[in-house]
Formats: sequence, C-alpha cells, structure tokens
Amino acid sequence: MSFANSQTGTAISDRATAQVLIIGAGINGIATFRDLALQGVDVVIVEKNDFVSGASSASSHMIHGGVRYLENGEFRLVKESVTERNSLLKIAPHYVKPLQTTIPIFSTFSGVMAAPLRFITHRQGATHVERGAMLIKVGMMIYDAFSRDGGTVPRHEFVGRSKALAALPKLNPGLKYTATYYDAAMHDPERLALDVLHDGLDAGPHARAANYVEAVGMDNDGVHLRNSVTGEEFTFHADVVVNTSGPWTDLTNTALGQPSTFMGGTKGSHIVLDNPELLAATGGREIFFEHEDGRIVLIYPLKGRVLVGTTDLEHDMSKPVRCTEDEIDYFFDLVAHVFPTVKVDRSHIVFRFAGVRPLPRHDDEAPGFVSRDYRIESRPLPRAGVADGTLLSLVGGKWTTFRALAENLSTDILKLLGLPRTVSTEGLAIGGGRNFPVTDAAHQVWVTAHGDEVGADRAEALLARYGTRASEVIDFMTDPTAQTDAPLQHDPAYTRREIEFLASTESVVRLIDVLLRRTSMAFVGSVTTPLIEEVARVVAPVLGWDAGRLAEEIELAHGILSDVHGVALAPVSQAPFFAV
Ligand SMILES: Cc1cc2nc3c(=O)[nH]c(=O)nc-3n(C[C@H](O)[C@H](O)[C@H](O)COP(=O)(O)OP(=O)(O)OC[C@H]3O[C@@H](n4cnc5c(N)ncnc54)[C@H](O)[C@@H]3O)c2cc1C
Repeated sequence: MSFANSQTGTAISDRATAQVLIIGAGINGIATFRDLALQGVDVVIVEKNDFVSGASSASSHMIHGGVRYLENGEFRLVKESVTERNSLLKIAPHYVKPLQTTIPIFSTFSGVMAAPLRFITHRQGATHVERGAMLIKVGMMIYDAFSRDGGTVPRHEFVGRSKALAALPKLNPGLKYTATYYDAAMHDPERLALDVLHDGLDAGPHARAANYVEAVGMDNDGVHLRNSVTGEEFTFHADVVVNTSGPWTDLTNTALGQPSTFMGGTKGSHIVLDNPELLAATGGREIFFEHEDGRIVLIYPLKGRVLVGTTDLEHDMSKPVRCTEDEIDYFFDLVAHVFPTVKVDRSHIVFRFAGVRPLPRHDDEAPGFVSRDYRIESRPLPRAGVADGTLLSLVGGKWTTFRALAENLSTDILKLLGLPRTVSTEGLAIGGGRNFPVTDAAHQVWVTAHGDEVGADRAEALLARYGTRASEVIDFMTDPTAQTDAPLQHDPAYTRREIEFLASTESVVRLIDVLLRRTSMAFVGSVTTPLIEEVARVVAPVLGWDAGRLAEEIELAHGILSDVHGVALAPVSQAPFFAV
C-alpha cells in the first residue's frame, strides 16, 4: 500500500488530468474518492494541508444517530445516521465501538412546552428551559424505534436517582433520573479516514491523492493547484470538480472564481484531560447532557483520558480556529455541574483542539438548531477547460454519515459522467476492519499468531491501532534485512520501525503529521520536546531531510503543538543536536 508522492505532487502534476478532481480531503472528500475509485473512475483528490486536518480532526469522536436532532425534526438525518452507525460498527469494527451513553436529568416536566416551540421556530427563546425527564423519555422512545438494528442495540433504560447514583456514585446527587442508551465512538478518526483513503488508492492507478496541494484558482485551462510546501503551481483539467472543502467551501469557490454563500460554520472546541478520578467517575460511559445554557455537551473516556466538549460559536473562517481560555472555563463549569466533587483544573489538560462545523448558512437561527443534514449544490463550469464541466459543492455532512453521503455524491457524479454504478460501499469492510477478529476467541488467535513475531503485548497494541493492517506493520517491523527494532526512548508505546513504516507508506510530509494524525501521541499527552526530536530523527532519513529541514520541522511541530493545542513544552535543543 502506498500513497501518491504528495511531497512534490508529482503523481498529480505528471498527468494533470482526470475525470473528477476532488478538492479537500476531510472524511467526506476522502469517502467520495473511495467510492469513485471503486467504480473505476479516473479520480484525483487534493488537500491543501495534511489529510484529515480540518473539521474531520476536530469532532467529538461520536458516531451517533443524533438523538437531539429529533428535536429539530430531522428524521431523515436521524434514520440515515443510525443506519450508518450500525453499519460502521460492522464494517469498521477496529475503530468504531459501541458507546454506552448516560444522560443525567435534573427535572421532570420542564421543556415540555419549550421543545415544541423550538421545533417550530428553531430558536432557543429568551429564557432557556431545561429538557426534563418527560421530554427525554419521549425522545428516547422515538430513538429506540429508529435505532435498534433488529434488536441488536439494547433498548434505552430510565432509572431514578438512587439506582443512578449506585451505578455512577460521583454524579451530582441533585439529579432526578438518568437515561442510558447506546451510540458509538470512533477512537481514531484520523486513522479511520486514512483507511478509507487507502481503500480508494488500492483500487488502482486511476485513483490518485496528494496532501499539501491547494486549489488556488481556475481559468479556461483548468484548476490551478499549488504545492503548499514548495509553492510550485500547475493547471489541472477535470470534467467534474467537486468542492468538499468543508467549512472552507465558500472560500474555495471564491478562489475558483465561483463565489458562493452556502456556508455558516460554527466553531466547537474540546479539551483532553489526564484525570484518573474523572475517568473513573464516568464508569466507562459517555455522559451526555444539557448544560445550564441549554447546550448539549459531553464528557467521555477515550484512550485512558477524558474528552470534554463542546461549544457552538459563530466563526469567521478567515480567523484562526482556537480553543480559548473562556471555553476552557466553560468546560470546567460543565464538569462541576455533573461531577461536583471531582477536582479538575488546567494542570490536567494534555491537549486541546478546535474546529469549525461545515454547517449551512443559517442567518438568525441559533447555532445549536442549525440543520446537521447535507446537500449538494451544482453549477455548470464553463471555465474548467471543457465545454460542459460541472462544479459540485458539498454543503454540510457529519462524520457519522460519510459513507452514505459519499454514495449519494458519487451517484450524482456518475450521472454527470454517464457511467453506471458497479460497486456499492454498503456493508463493504473498511481497511483494517477487513477480517477483524471480533470474538474473544478470534482475537486471541490473531494475537497469539502475531505475538510470536513481536510479543503478545505489542501485537495486541498494533491490532487495536491498525486493525488487521497491523500484519503489514509487523512484517515491516520484523524485516530481517532492516535494523533491529526498538521502542522509542521517549514513548515506548511506539517503536522506531513502526514510525519508519508510517513515514514511508502514509504520505507523511511534515513531522507534525506523525505527531497529530498518524499516531495518538499528541492526543493522549505523550508529546514532549525530547519526543518531538526523537521522532524527527527517525523520520528524517526516511524522507531524505537534511539538517536544515530537520530543524525546521521540529520548530514547526513545536510551534503548532504549543500554540494551537496548548501543549506545555520545553524549548527545542540547539541546532548542532539535529545533525543527521
Ligand atoms: C466541534 C465539532 C464536533 C463534531 N462532532 C461530531 C461528532 O461527534 N460526530 C459526527 O458525526 N460529526 C461531528 N462533527 C462534524 C464533522 O466533524 C464534520 O462535519 C466533518 O468532519 C466534515 O468533513 P468534511 O470532509 O466535509 O470537511 P473537513 O474535514 O473540514 O475537510 C475539508 C478539507 O478541505 C481542505 N481544503 C480547504 N480548502 C482547500 C483548497 N482550496 N484546496 C485543497 N484543500 C482545501 C481543508 O484543509 C480540509 O482538510 C463535529 C464537528 C466539529 C467541528
């Protein structure tokens, strides 16, 4: 398996034409790429930054039916979402796992009048009224009806205060009930998206992908693409241009000379806490609830840490996207509301992140009530270098529905190209989810077989990290012609050969790509300055970096981690240390 050579974009610029050019490699662009690649379409996807570095890297990690969208009357979306959730549990079992979710409820009747009003007006109203037990019960019953996948997903359970506190003793004793139901979580969104991308690339040389290539303009000859690292530009012809640049969709259309006002994204932030008391308090469940301002927020355990989010704030896409100190205060406040005795402070934060939801323009509608559904906008494209070209723009699209969305979008594209659909992605396993051992017995067989090569603990960790693609990683790690493998000195959860594997096969362009998106090092708070330097020295020979580039990559990664993600880091070492 290997990606196009995106360091120079050569795989794209050498043959600067395709039937379809997709601009923007978040999950929705990538899933559309996979779908088209599987139909044999000549397709190229370009991404101005790293793959999956936009909204798709900033989600709450939930693969969910969207119980709260019932309140907005979005029944189509809820139906599609629960169908896709149930399917992803089967086709991507390595990354998508069932998530027991508990809603603490503090009142019995409130919101019964307010909800129909919100349903009709889609406005919050001057005074916020909490969603009470009656209302949540009705919502849960409807959700069960949509969600149970022929009975395999357990029905929701409603319990009173004493039973609720017996199960989760640190919950606020002021609550009256809890409602518990099942949704799903994805542990590694970036890796899941890379698996989807791999599936597309593995379809054959007609499918090409390049990160760090930006669409910057368009004229009669085609779309102008610019290598974001080297600044080189070239022109690319396509019959159909698909703008899947998420919250940047209007900016991309403007750059292409096709201005639009489709988007009205809202910013949401999260923090990741290393706080064992809070982790234990969640009892392994997602705590999903209405905060005092009416926003639906969450606290849940992920990778031995606790994820807390999120906000919903209007955002100007020309400004940087950051998790602010005010948002952090808000998160501490919501934790205190639900777990009043658990102490949480800034010293527990190991990582923070923010992103903008690619929502449709919503004028005076309150952010929380803006439709989460998606639509496709089409325009004739007289300037794409062909007489009857088309520009399609995706407006909206959650993580949960990526497969169905991609199928709908690529069906439209196939119609434009006059081609039949030959393959459906419904039920088709994704990447390392293929032949994934789901029973305990099958899991044990896999770990025992591969444990001979790398030890049972390492085999177990690699299976969790890559699904069945772990066997390719293990082959690489145990290659007898290569240097003997060893754990990284500053993060023994990873080995040198594993990092070399990622650098050589997963289109790593920048050091930060490894720390943020190929591994979970940054997310779980393992990154220190010595680790950044160590990973850089492992990656440098694989990517042919000289001492100057090495120092530049370390500075860049250090800056992004501390400025954007709030990671506390010691200064980098002096330049001579970097010699390769
Ligand atoms: C705070 C938050 C929480 C969320 N939680 C959930 C959740 O729990 N569950 C869920 O299902 N969904 C959730 N979502 C929604 C979901 O994450 C997004 O809707 C989804 O990831 C959008 O994917 P996308 O591919 O459309 O956009 P993006 O992931 O933003 O991808 C667009 C890409 O286009 C690139 N690009 C932009 N301009 C150009 C250009 N000119 N040339 C080349 N490339 C370009 C960008 O760099 C970007 O990588 C959440 C979103 C946010 C922000």
